[in-house]
Amino acid sequence: MRAADTRTGTDTGGLGHVVVIGGGIAGLAAAHRLLGAGARVTVLEASHRLGGKLHAGEIAGVRVDLGAESMLARRPEAVALAREVGLGDRLQPPATASAAIWTRGALRPMPKGHVMGVPGDASAVAGVLSDEGLRRIEEDRELPPTEVGDDIAVGEYVARRVGREVVDRLVEPLLGGVYAGDAYRISMRSAVPQLYEAARTHTSLTEGVRDIQARAAASRQTGPVFMGIDGGIGQLPLAVAESVRARGGEILLGCAAHGLRRVEDGWEVYVEDWDLEADAVVLAVPAPHAARLLEHDAPGAAAELRAVEYASMALITLAYRRADVGALPDGSGFLVPPVDGRTIKASTFASQKWGWIAEQDPDLFVLRTSVGRYGDEKDLGRPDGELVDISRRDLRAATGLEAAPVASAVTRWDGGLPQYPVGHHARVARIREQVGRVPGLAVCGAAYDGVGIPACVASANAAVDQLTGDLSAVRELTANPVQSLHGGAGE
Ligand SMILES: Cc1cc2nc3c(=O)[nH]c(=O)nc-3n(C[C@H](O)[C@H](O)[C@H](O)COP(=O)(O)OP(=O)(O)OC[C@H]3O[C@@H](n4cnc5c(N)ncnc54)[C@H](O)[C@@H]3O)c2cc1C
Repeated sequence: MRAADTRTGTDTGGLGHVVVIGGGIAGLAAAHRLLGAGARVTVLEASHRLGGKLHAGEIAGVRVDLGAESMLARRPEAVALAREVGLGDRLQPPATASAAIWTRGALRPMPKGHVMGVPGDASAVAGVLSDEGLRRIEEDRELPPTEVGDDIAVGEYVARRVGREVVDRLVEPLLGGVYAGDAYRISMRSAVPQLYEAARTHTSLTEGVRDIQARAAASRQTGPVFMGIDGGIGQLPLAVAESVRARGGEILLGCAAHGLRRVEDGWEVYVEDWDLEADAVVLAVPAPHAARLLEHDAPGAAAELRAVEYASMALITLAYRRADVGALPDGSGFLVPPVDGRTIKASTFASQKWGWIAEQDPDLFVLRTSVGRYGDEKDLGRPDGELVDISRRDLRAATGLEAAPVASAVTRWDGGLPQYPVGHHARVARIREQVGRVPGLAVCGAAYDGVGIPACVASANAAVDQLTGDLSAVRELTANPVQSLHGGAGE
């Protein structure tokens, strides 16, 4: 069946009918902005659930997040979107700012004075590193400059300046909490742009970090660094979708776009046995899907997108009777450096971190662990029950928690997080250049300028601006990717 011509170029603010492919937070944010710009909008979502990696769920009758659970509030995009769609009253900061790191055989307080694990001086990380590791940090001041060129792996640069221990015991678990990646592969320019800038302007990394810290203090940014949402971050895409529908946008679930063709004055989007006509298309899907859809009209961009790799992981959510749990360490949970050879990579004590979870059932205690990261996905082949058992074993070793949970849920995120290896920013610039040559086409989402929710929203906003002819945001994002932080246990 062929759909009626749905192009409406003249009466919709010049944008006409825009089809957004992907109903994750990037696609929904794009749809929301497109409606504000006067377009007629159709969102296609392949699955039967909106939100992608944002997933509000439930365990033992308590609402929880089964995917992303917090968003950086020091960037405006995500909290602004939440407010725009009526969630302002439900924004909630974490109940605790402290966390721990399970390293060298003990849970140790996560140091506070660092930039993605890199301290301004050795004393800031005393307690986490060995005496030798602390001594090595001091050598940074005496070392000759380290060449960073156009980009360098975070781990490589930091290890050269302040030693491998800082990378293995601090940078790696913190970066892993965001990218589920490998610090010795991840691009410093794309993933920690502040450190890349510091590396270009300072010979000493610790001095560069102190400079970043001084500027942050001088900027007097107040308010919480992270925000959650009462009911779950998973409420955000649902509220955005509600707002999109309320303003006349159409959202089709269970509708995968199988193909895309540029035609004389617009686009044809192929969905099962019918197609949709559009004046413009926003692609808000993970890189492999975007690659397939762009094969015909932007083969160069498709080839670049095919090269973007992803890490898979699983989240294991466990609910206990609070009375069975006994005393757990204070704080939001702990991170685990891979170098220690444990299976879990982190644990978030959700009932201690989020007031809205604790309040739902004071007799229940909810926590979650994560398993799997780039290059270390063997445990993901295990059945759910084994992932629960392994989590319990590691939790017992870290915290002494012996109790049996009353409920468990394993959420698998295959291809959950795109990896940003060295040179990622250049790849994104090439993709954007090739996409920009095709009229009425824009891309957004986690594969490009940052994996965190604010970065995804920023890329959605930039994609819409690009369609309206304003390229400044896309250029700015390509040149200066957004640092993606989110409130994993260690933040
Ligand atoms: C386990 C986990 C925890 C995370 N925690 C946090 C956190 O606490 N804070 C934070 O800021 N970030 C976090 N992130 C990162 C962040 O959640 C994601 O990067 C972000 O949500 C990605 O949004 P997106 O819209 O780009 O893509 P997605 O969420 O992947 O959405 C893309 C959508 O497109 C759909 N789709 C795919 N192909 C097609 C097609 N052909 N046609 C139609 N639809 C299609 C998919 O079904 C999906 O719904 C986490 C990520 C994971 C995996």
